[in-house]
Amino acid sequence: MSRAISRALRALAAAASPPPRVLATQDVVAVASRLRRRRRCHRTVAGSASRSRGLSTARDDDDDETSAAPVPVLIVGGGPVGLTLSYLLSRAGVDSTLIERRADGATTHPQAHFVNNRTMEIFRHVSGLERVVTRSQPPLKHWRKFLYKTQMVGGVELGRVDHFAGGGGGGREGEGEGEGEEEEEENRDAASPTSVAHFGQHRLEPELLDRAIAAHPRGIRGFAHGTECVGATCDDDGVTATVRDATSPRMAGAKKNDDEKNAQRERTLRASYLVAADGASSRTRERLGVGLRGTPEMQHLVNVHFRSRKLARALREDDGGDGAAMLYFVFNPSVVAVVVAHDVRGDGEFVAQVPYFPPTQSAEEDFGMEACVGLARAAAGGAAAGENENENDSFDDVDVRSVRAWTMSAEVADEFVAGRGRAFLCGDAAHRFPPAGGFGMNTGIQDAHNLAWKLAVAVASAGDGGSGAPSARNLLRSYHAERRPVAVGNTRLSVSNFRQVLKIPTALGLPPDAAAALTEATAALPSFAAKAALNAGLALGRAQCGDLLLTDNAIGNARRATVKRMCEEGGGKTLRLQFPTEDLGFVYGPGSEHAATGDWARRDRGQSDDGLGTAATLVPPGTLVVGGRLPHAWLSLHLGPNDDRKSAKHISSLDLLELSVLDGAIGGDDAHAAWATQELRSTPGVVFTLIKTLRDDEEPRSHSMRLTLANDTIQRLRDAAPAGVSIRLAIVAPTASIARGVERYYYEGGKRPSDDRFVIAVDEKGAWTRAAGGADAFVRPDGHVAWIGARADERSDDDGDEGVDAGSVEVVAALRRELGMY
Ligand SMILES: Cc1cc2nc3c(=O)[nH]c(=O)nc-3n(C[C@H](O)[C@H](O)[C@H](O)COP(=O)(O)OP(=O)(O)OC[C@H]3O[C@@H](n4cnc5c(N)ncnc54)[C@H](O)[C@@H]3O)c2cc1C
Repeated sequence: MSRAISRALRALAAAASPPPRVLATQDVVAVASRLRRRRRCHRTVAGSASRSRGLSTARDDDDDETSAAPVPVLIVGGGPVGLTLSYLLSRAGVDSTLIERRADGATTHPQAHFVNNRTMEIFRHVSGLERVVTRSQPPLKHWRKFLYKTQMVGGVELGRVDHFAGGGGGGREGEGEGEGEEEEEENRDAASPTSVAHFGQHRLEPELLDRAIAAHPRGIRGFAHGTECVGATCDDDGVTATVRDATSPRMAGAKKNDDEKNAQRERTLRASYLVAADGASSRTRERLGVGLRGTPEMQHLVNVHFRSRKLARALREDDGGDGAAMLYFVFNPSVVAVVVAHDVRGDGEFVAQVPYFPPTQSAEEDFGMEACVGLARAAAGGAAAGENENENDSFDDVDVRSVRAWTMSAEVADEFVAGRGRAFLCGDAAHRFPPAGGFGMNTGIQDAHNLAWKLAVAVASAGDGGSGAPSARNLLRSYHAERRPVAVGNTRLSVSNFRQVLKIPTALGLPPDAAAALTEATAALPSFAAKAALNAGLALGRAQCGDLLLTDNAIGNARRATVKRMCEEGGGKTLRLQFPTEDLGFVYGPGSEHAATGDWARRDRGQSDDGLGTAATLVPPGTLVVGGRLPHAWLSLHLGPNDDRKSAKHISSLDLLELSVLDGAIGGDDAHAAWATQELRSTPGVVFTLIKTLRDDEEPRSHSMRLTLANDTIQRLRDAAPAGVSIRLAIVAPTASIARGVERYYYEGGKRPSDDRFVIAVDEKGAWTRAAGGADAFVRPDGHVAWIGARADERSDDDGDEGVDAGSVEVVAALRRELGMY
């Protein structure tokens, strides 16, 4: 087929499809730039959005918002978790309003930077976000290592750990260093279709915000920035939130706690459900009366966010061009710090994390601008370290952008569902743990992924009290049952990672508890004396990293040798970067018990005595188990009879659940390709997917029997599905010719399922068969498996002859169970 005809057909298919609610990547970019322009007057726009929806600000004096129509979901907090939830709700067809205290949209202060595989898999279906993150990755050589050094540039290297040695984790090179399908080939056998990434939260949030606005049924009107939630009460029917304008200066004459005047600035908003995504210091959690369990205040830290072009260049050139790393653990007599190198290109971007010790020290008094510049330069290895000051090595261009104090805790909320089943905690509001291992944001985004489709079903079934209706309460309660154990597991892992981090300073003669003990011991002194004593103690400690460590002496030699050995030995001796089992192997619900007693080693951190509760069961990534994530395997999308394989679209088995990973039109010139194009442009809604796997040694008669039975099962599922839930049939054929047979059966035989949720894929390399043993599977909208059929080698050709698919009863039961219809 000529290209011109193909283009014309694509245009026709596009014209025939409904206008896309969710945009392809190029559209998103265009919308994003429009939004950036609009965001300059964002406050005004958000204000008018508030008026239209009933969300009030101080300026909306006349409306009585309590009588306005309730919004289905109110999200408090527009960090990465709230934004992801907003996007996913829109894609599931649910209207929501997100209120965010900050007026300017996204954070500019980088915290999270490590994006794990599961989050990237979710981003794969967030309007091309996975692709954007992957493409903007710095070269892998810039972030594959952690370095333990006396200073970032030059100095003495105490140890290094390469986290991609041996090809682990599928980290990809960025910016023209080998992207695209070749890479997919290379990653063919990896556990995930996507790789982990190094992408700062301050860059991620604007991308999420743009997509969330573009996907929202009311566009920018679904967002109220510069608005703060100051109260929330729940009843059996919904939530009443009190909000106020967070941007207007205090009114003239208003005193602190001037209740009457503050009340004038407050308005209420009614919602069916409320999600608290307002971060680690969540006031909404407190207002809902939910407590935290675990260890508060493990450490107090200051983050110093700075740029330095000179430092970036020096790192790129240091060590024969191998001086760049993701993390620098710096130990010298001036500073002990962990520095995250967000970017060593261009102007460079870094965050130094330094512990401080309240109440003797305070972030405001002890980490002023001058102190922070000195600290950054001392970590870099410039003049502040006291040696060789000259223009080239002094890093005199250090530009401190922001300084932020934070407290490291290891706590999990008692309840993730509160307020009579009407309120939910998500992200840091539900769990806060040490950043070691990079699990905070990732866990929160995965919370949102679990919650969004459940809220969508609950909203769609509201008012439907029939016997076939899902129990919103049961369904939403499963959010707590499924996500809390994951948060507990990740909390324990993060604490254990933090302890790994501390082993290195301990080996260097810097026992982590010494400074805290000193702070306590000097607490009774007048504050100036306590500060002087603490500073002297800290300086004494850091002096261990001077000559004693670096010159040829018994103590220094032994310490250097120990750290070097710890880095070389790996195996949990130092902090790891990747945790594939925890990242991809958590199991929800009934399968969890089965997995725990099955062949898999149960890594249950639930036996711990930290009082947190039971952790999720983990299985090796890629294990097909009920409750686990559907294993990834590369497949080709079947595109129709004229599909010459050149146009084959590589998809992951995870993409069978949502095709939106493919931009634009599918190609091909038949009804199936036209359908596929439409499918990938449509709003997904809440879709459960039945994957039917065909075997190549089965008789064609068996194939058609299995397809007939599949149709029967699909019909039963559709009959059982409540409002707002659709069912997709995905056929995985072992070869292109069997796929063509399937297509003929459905299209020429007129048996195509009546709704558009249908896909045919080809398992040319047998990857899916290896991953799933040829079994059928029924999968939830969030990619977790609800039911598994018999493995291919357990089926016989006669299986279908009875005329009823034995599995169909089980599949329908699984659907009902997952929807809380029991
Ligand atoms: C140094 C550091 C490094 C980290 N590195 C990683 C990493 O590599 N990977 C990782 O996964 N995680 C990492 N984390 C953790 C990560 O930053 C957090 O888990 C993440 O920010 C949580 O997102 P969130 O949306 O739940 O909360 P937040 O990002 O805190 O967002 C909450 C939002 O709610 C708003 N808000 C608060 N109160 C109100 C209110 N009353 N009304 C309206 N709006 C309100 C806030 O303004 C804020 O925008 C790191 C954390 C730190 C401190």
